[in-house]
Amino acid sequence: MTISHLSQPQLLVALNELSSHLDGQVLSNEPGKQPIDPHCWNALLKGPSGKSFIPPVPLAYVQCANRTDALMTVQFAIEHGIRIQGKGCGHHYGGACLADGGIVIDMSRMKQITVDPKTRTAIVQPGVTTEEVRKATIPHGLHFPGGHISSVGISGFILGGGNGWGVKHCGSAADNVVEFEVVVPATAGKEEECKLQRVNQSTDPELFWGLKGAGMFMGIVTEFVIQLHATPQRLPCITAVYPLSMAQKVGSFFQKVYMEAPLEIEPSLVYTGREGAPKPGANGMEYNDPAVVLSLVSFLPPEDPRVQACFDAVRHFEPHARSLPLLDSVPTYDEALSSLDVFWSWSGLSLYSYGSFVPQERLDGDFMQVLHKQAEASTSPYSMILIAAGNPRVQKPCRHPSEGQVDGQETSQSAEGVGKCLYSKESEESLAAYNYRGCVYVCPYALWSRTAGGAEVDGDEHHIAWVRNTSSAMKPWVTGCYLNEIMLDQPGQVELCYDHDDLVRIRQLKARVDPQGLLRPVH
Ligand SMILES: Cc1cc2nc3c(=O)[nH]c(=O)nc-3n(C[C@H](O)[C@H](O)[C@H](O)COP(=O)(O)OP(=O)(O)OC[C@H]3O[C@@H](n4cnc5c(N)ncnc54)[C@H](O)[C@@H]3O)c2cc1C
Repeated sequence: MTISHLSQPQLLVALNELSSHLDGQVLSNEPGKQPIDPHCWNALLKGPSGKSFIPPVPLAYVQCANRTDALMTVQFAIEHGIRIQGKGCGHHYGGACLADGGIVIDMSRMKQITVDPKTRTAIVQPGVTTEEVRKATIPHGLHFPGGHISSVGISGFILGGGNGWGVKHCGSAADNVVEFEVVVPATAGKEEECKLQRVNQSTDPELFWGLKGAGMFMGIVTEFVIQLHATPQRLPCITAVYPLSMAQKVGSFFQKVYMEAPLEIEPSLVYTGREGAPKPGANGMEYNDPAVVLSLVSFLPPEDPRVQACFDAVRHFEPHARSLPLLDSVPTYDEALSSLDVFWSWSGLSLYSYGSFVPQERLDGDFMQVLHKQAEASTSPYSMILIAAGNPRVQKPCRHPSEGQVDGQETSQSAEGVGKCLYSKESEESLAAYNYRGCVYVCPYALWSRTAGGAEVDGDEHHIAWVRNTSSAMKPWVTGCYLNEIMLDQPGQVELCYDHDDLVRIRQLKARVDPQGLLRPVH
């Protein structure tokens, strides 16, 4: 961590001075006073959780009103050698925006969105949520592959990769960025030139690559230009709930569906091991018993024969073994993509997770057995293990569907016929730092309530240990981890989020754009 030459009281005075030049305001954590509420999603970040999880405590929060506030704060940090971290909506479970002893550049109030239906792009500021982007794009019949829960901040989501609704056919959120506006601590290696710059494939391809998946290490992003995709107004959804004892059979059926379905149909599987609390199922279905839940959401319209074929396979799979009636419906786009929200929002909700990638072809019976056993051992009725769609492989050369006419022929929105790959002009290596492709996403989530009783009463250590044990059991199958859904509280976790070559490349880029190490180190 960078050590400032000023003492803490001197820094607080300097921050007051900074505040007088900003349109926003500065909130400082003063010695001897109750720490400021970090306004992060996870209740675990409100204070230490036993010995297992100790959240970082920033010196101050700069609540930016605009990009100039963000720029001036970065200049201040360079001058005083103080740690900084950007904040979008504070949804990272491990509190990655909380610069320990440093400044949080909080852009949650910067919420403008402008959609251009002609170019199928939108300009968004860092304080917007997945829901706000969705509401802005719906009137144009357009889609951005945002988070599975409406409140997820678009900003951190993109900068860490973004594995959202529609990832299989649209690619990750990071794959769908056209341009960033960013301030990095050193522009072209010169700290005195710290300024806002537009970064895209032409202006600075290396930084453009790095911001797409390793953005939190590189700079402070004040605006995103994102690519949008045409979407049907209604999305067919189907959810089948089976007792957990069926886990392996349902698991191998899931694998078959995952491999064979068109990219526009997104399957997911949830294992829950403890009874006693309503659990998530697509379309708002609730269930209380240990279960394995198979869901499909289709971005193809209901009349498409491929939807019928896939959904029929689910309708006919073990119909008598189901614990609940099949949920088979065609909700509106908005209803479908907000269907999980209710299960991820309650007062005191605490979460500890270990987001991982498993190559599609390695999703075998032994792995399913491990997940089944671990689900049975879960420590909270809300906890679960999720298998969801991951980032697709990329085929090159090929035009992106959003480019429309190619040589007089309409390009297809479907990825069928190109070997189930994402369309892109770029190769996999040059597309994004978020690059575990051709994998499914597998994540054990411990979810429980934080009460006034404290960590011991709430069983924090116990729940955290379950996630750590589950991640150890999954290790032989896991190829890497996901920066956006890992707690970043254990040594070596950042390294797990990139393959060796990408890690070297990220560190070289970091040395160029942040030579003082003001932003989070890459380890
Ligand atoms: C309920 C819930 C559901 C989720 N669902 C999904 C999901 O479906 N798919 C998925 O991929 N992830 C999901 N996530 C994880 C999510 O992607 C991350 O939490 C993401 O970081 C959220 O973005 P944010 O803007 O709120 O980030 P913050 O918590 O504000 O920040 C996260 C990191 O990004 C950096 N950062 C944020 N904004 C900026 C900026 N403008 N400039 C520089 N650095 C910045 C921060 O410094 C920090 O390191 C979910 C999280 C929650 C809580």
